[in-house]
Amino acid sequence: MESEVREYPKFVSSMRKTHTILIPSMLPFHMALFEKALIESGYRVEVMKNEGHEVVEEGLKYVHNDTCYPALLVIGQFIDNLNHRNDLDHLVLLITQTGGGCRASNYIHLLRKALDKAGYGFIPVVSLNASNLEKDSGLRLTYPLIKQIVAAMTYGDEIMYLYNKTRSYEKEAGAAKKLADFWIAQIGKQFERHQGTGARSIRKNLKNIAQSFDQLDLDLSQAKPKVGVVGEIYVKYAALGNNHLEDFLVSENAEVMVPGLYGFILYCLYNSIYDHQYYGRGLLKKWISSFGIKYLRRREKWMIHSIEKTRFTPMKYFSHTKDLSEGVLSHGTKMGEGWLLTAEMMELIEIGYGNIICTQPFGCLPNHICGKGVMKKIKSLHPDANIVAIDYDPSATKVNQENRIKLMLAIAREKIKEGEKAKL
Ligand code: SF4
Repeated sequence: MESEVREYPKFVSSMRKTHTILIPSMLPFHMALFEKALIESGYRVEVMKNEGHEVVEEGLKYVHNDTCYPALLVIGQFIDNLNHRNDLDHLVLLITQTGGGCRASNYIHLLRKALDKAGYGFIPVVSLNASNLEKDSGLRLTYPLIKQIVAAMTYGDEIMYLYNKTRSYEKEAGAAKKLADFWIAQIGKQFERHQGTGARSIRKNLKNIAQSFDQLDLDLSQAKPKVGVVGEIYVKYAALGNNHLEDFLVSENAEVMVPGLYGFILYCLYNSIYDHQYYGRGLLKKWISSFGIKYLRRREKWMIHSIEKTRFTPMKYFSHTKDLSEGVLSHGTKMGEGWLLTAEMMELIEIGYGNIICTQPFGCLPNHICGKGVMKKIKSLHPDANIVAIDYDPSATKVNQENRIKLMLAIAREKIKEGEKAKL
């Protein structure tokens, strides 16, 4: 019997001018710059903003309920968005694939199946990945696009870091957000003029961004619980995935810190090196990754230098962070967020964020092992660490999640000494 190979609609180069690429939302500041970078490379792009219960409902309708929660949300967000549009013939859906062993590499197939079931099977899906998983795709990662995406990530990480450092202490409500939005708009305008990606302009922009946040009027008279957020990449960053966790923490009078995207990308690149070292795989991939690491580390250095010149303590170099997982979890453990999860928890403790929320999506076995699984060991090394794992799934109630976080915050508050001032 002949097996039938299903041909899916493709996004081809000629559609660049006629079709809009829909992108799932994830990070608070980076997405607007990624959108600009793609537009400057000739694509029409829109980052989806739809949220709410309908997204979860649509996800549950078209994806099996034992699927990872991030996949369910991303697919639900696409279908909910499509349900409210009248330009369906001119749309393309973009999904990222990590190319690793985790299920994230297969989300694209789940999305295509869901689209078929929902009656949208005619809409092309395109994959953004570094492993060329979709070889005939009309979306190409060219050098100018990579350069702009890396610059966008560098600015996004610095803005997110400084925003989190300041938003809980601002004297004028909304001042930190206003400043962050100002910089996103400024960098976006520079991208439009094909500027902002060269070494000199990145350094200049980073310096100006850091200085402007340094000039914000802050009330540091009272120390607040410092809470770090780690976890699976989607629920860690996406407000849709973690029920607006960062806003909730700030509303509870805490300072929040979410490690930047640099960590995740460097983690993926280092994994190619460990793949070769531990499992004898891909020498070429190792070389390409080593080049990528070098490229990113230069920019990481500029970011850290720009913050060093202000009153804020900068983030740690990733080369240091990655070593912190040693003795707790091997670098050979690289499914999901793998050793990165452990390393980020250790880094957060080192930089004063000993209260940690580990966000765990339903269906994510790798991160339950590398998150929940290492907590006992981390607590034995840092008895003062106050770590809580919070599960995110379609049936978990926000109230339950928030109550557990409030309990963690109560312990954190007990540890703050009377009259203690905030340290940035
Ligand atoms: S990291 Fe977890 S949530 Fe993400 S694809 Fe893998 S198993 Fe699913």
